Amino acid sequence: MIPEAIRYVRPDTIEAAVEVFEQSRGKGTFLAGGTDLVLEMKRGSAKPDVLIDVARLRELSVLEEKNGYLYLGAALSFSRIASSALVRRFAPALAAAAEDIGSPQIRARGTMGGNIATGSPAGDSLPALVAHDAEIVTEGVNGAAISSLESFLGKKSAGGNRGVLIREVRIPALPGGQVKGTFVKLGRRNALAIARISAALVIKGEAEGAMKKISLVLGAVGRQPLRVPLLEPSGSDFNALAAAAAELAEQAVAKSIPGRPTAPYKMRAVKGVVLEAFERVRNGGYG
Ligand SMILES: Cc1cc2nc3c(=O)[nH]c(=O)nc-3n(C[C@H](O)[C@H](O)[C@H](O)COP(=O)(O)OP(=O)(O)OC[C@H]3O[C@@H](n4cnc5c(N)ncnc54)[C@H](O)[C@@H]3O)c2cc1C
Repeated sequence: MIPEAIRYVRPDTIEAAVEVFEQSRGKGTFLAGGTDLVLEMKRGSAKPDVLIDVARLRELSVLEEKNGYLYLGAALSFSRIASSALVRRFAPALAAAAEDIGSPQIRARGTMGGNIATGSPAGDSLPALVAHDAEIVTEGVNGAAISSLESFLGKKSAGGNRGVLIREVRIPALPGGQVKGTFVKLGRRNALAIARISAALVIKGEAEGAMKKISLVLGAVGRQPLRVPLLEPSGSDFNALAAAAAELAEQAVAKSIPGRPTAPYKMRAVKGVVLEAFERVRNGGYG
C-alpha cells in the first residue's frame, strides 16, 4: 500500500531537482514515467517521503547529434527513442531494444533514465547502450560528472536510487552507414515479456566488408550486461564470424552464471539469439 503523506515536487531546473534531493537526506526519489517506481511503492519496497518529478525537465528530453556524439536525455520515453531517425542511424541496437520493450503503454511512459537507474538484469536498454559504448552524464551537488555506463552500473545502489540525477547518455556518432546493429530478446510469449536472455550486436564499419569493431553484449545472464570477448574480425566471412560469436557467447554465459538452475537453458538459448542477431545485421540491422 502507498502511504498517504508523500510530498510531490516538480522542479523547473536540474539545480532545483538536485537541491530537493539533497535536502531530503535519502528520503527523496526521482520520478520519471513511474512504471517501476509506482509498483515498488505498492509493494512497499520503495518508501519515499518526497517524489521529485523530473519527467518534464527540458534538459532531460534532448535528442540531438552534436560534436561527434548522439545525446539522449534521460527522460526520453522508449516510444520516442524507437521512432527517432537519429537513433536508428547512430544507435540502431538501442532503437531495436526500445521497440521491444513492454507494451505500447509502457513504451509511452517508461524512460531510458528509469531503466538505467533501476538497473535490472533484464533491463532491455542496458545491453544495447553498453554495445554502443555509451557514457552517462549525471548531476549531483558537486556538479556534472561523466562516466562509462558500464562503470556506473557496477556501482551499488539502493533499489533505483543512485544518489545522483541521470541527465543524459551520449553515444559516439559515426557517420551514417558505418554502424549497424540490432537487439534480440527471448522472453515469454506475450507483449509484456521480461527478457529471459537478450543480445545486442553492434558492428562498426561495413557489415560484410571491412569490419572494424564488433560489440556483442548479453542481457539477463548476470547482474550487469555481459560483454562477450570476441576475436578480432579477420576477413569478411560473416557466417564463420557469427558461428564463432555464438560459441564464445555460450562460454561467456557458462562463466557468468555457473551452477544456476537456468544456466544449461541459457547456454543453449544464447547461441540461437546470437545467430539471429547476426542474421538481422546481415539483412540491414536495426529491429
Ligand atoms: C508491464 C511492464 C512491462 C515491462 N516491460 C519491460 C521490458 O520489456 N523491458 C524492460 O527493460 N523493462 C520493462 N519494464 C520495466 C520499466 O518499464 C522500465 O524499467 C522503465 O524504463 C522505467 O522507467 P520509468 O521512467 O518508468 O522509471 P520510474 O518508475 O519513474 O523510476 C524507476 C527508478 O529510476 C529512478 N529514476 C528515474 N529517472 C531517473 C533519473 N533521471 N535520474 C536518476 N534516477 C532516476 C527512480 O528514482 C526510480 O528509482 C516493464 C514494466 C512493466 C510495469
